[in-house]
Amino acid sequence: MELTKADRYLLEAIRRGDQEGWRQLVERHQGRLLAFAAGRVAQRADAEDLVQDTFVSFLKNLLNFRAQAGLETYLFTILRNKIISRYRSQATAKVTLIGDVMPADSSPGGSNGFAHIADADPSASWYVRRDEHEDLLANALTHSIRDMIEEFKRGLKFEDLKLIDLLFFARVANNVAARTLGVSDNRVAVNKHRYLDRIRKGLGRVDLPADFPIAQLENLLADIWTAYRPSCPKRSTIGGWLLGSLEADWADYVGFHVDRLGCRFCQANRDDLQAAAQAPDPAAFNQRIMESTVGFLSVGR
Ligand SMILES: [Zn+2]
Repeated sequence: MELTKADRYLLEAIRRGDQEGWRQLVERHQGRLLAFAAGRVAQRADAEDLVQDTFVSFLKNLLNFRAQAGLETYLFTILRNKIISRYRSQATAKVTLIGDVMPADSSPGGSNGFAHIADADPSASWYVRRDEHEDLLANALTHSIRDMIEEFKRGLKFEDLKLIDLLFFARVANNVAARTLGVSDNRVAVNKHRYLDRIRKGLGRVDLPADFPIAQLENLLADIWTAYRPSCPKRSTIGGWLLGSLEADWADYVGFHVDRLGCRFCQANRDDLQAAAQAPDPAAFNQRIMESTVGFLSVGR
């Protein structure tokens, strides 16, 4: 999810204090953020407060926004951090990136397939500045991963896409990935090697030393997944999936990503799209957010 040209125009307008631009941005994202928060906290009112705080933080930090990830991902990240910090003491409020949707029998030892993974360090804010070399490397890795995923999508390589989701996004062990997809452990190991090799080769002029620790590389890849969600289907694709208008193999992949893997971000989009189809009246909430944020709008000028 990269920042689109339309997003850039919108952000420029908001930086100038443009209220209509701000209203548009809030309106576009409020539903999916609310769906995300509502799934994590018990009370609807708390979820609304969190979303409101998220938009306030966004405006306050507008100048620091590094426009490399998409707006949606950035907003999700702020919201997620807010949920984590508010409920840090409560064990029930774990905000994993991946839902615990795996069937019990696919988990190596527990009843909750993915609960042990994909629980990224909440303090690892990806938009905090890293050192320059790490920045370059992260950028190159991001491009390389995107190229690979685009190629797999064009080639309709859905087994590869699922495996990449399992290994690098959900970060499950090879044998769990193998069982989930019904393939051999060896096939997973061989493919994982192929993906990492391909990612390294796509780095261009940025140097990744041959002895770069594999665990560190995998952590970096996980950070990139959190920050850029390179494998997440577009919102319009999720919409098509809900309407049943996707081709069968695409629908199967989107279903895997959303329901089986349990991507929280895409689930929020799904829930929001479903809610919008049923009760299209987000106006009151929009009004509330506008009233509570408009005072911060000129801060970035
Ligand atoms: Zn997703």
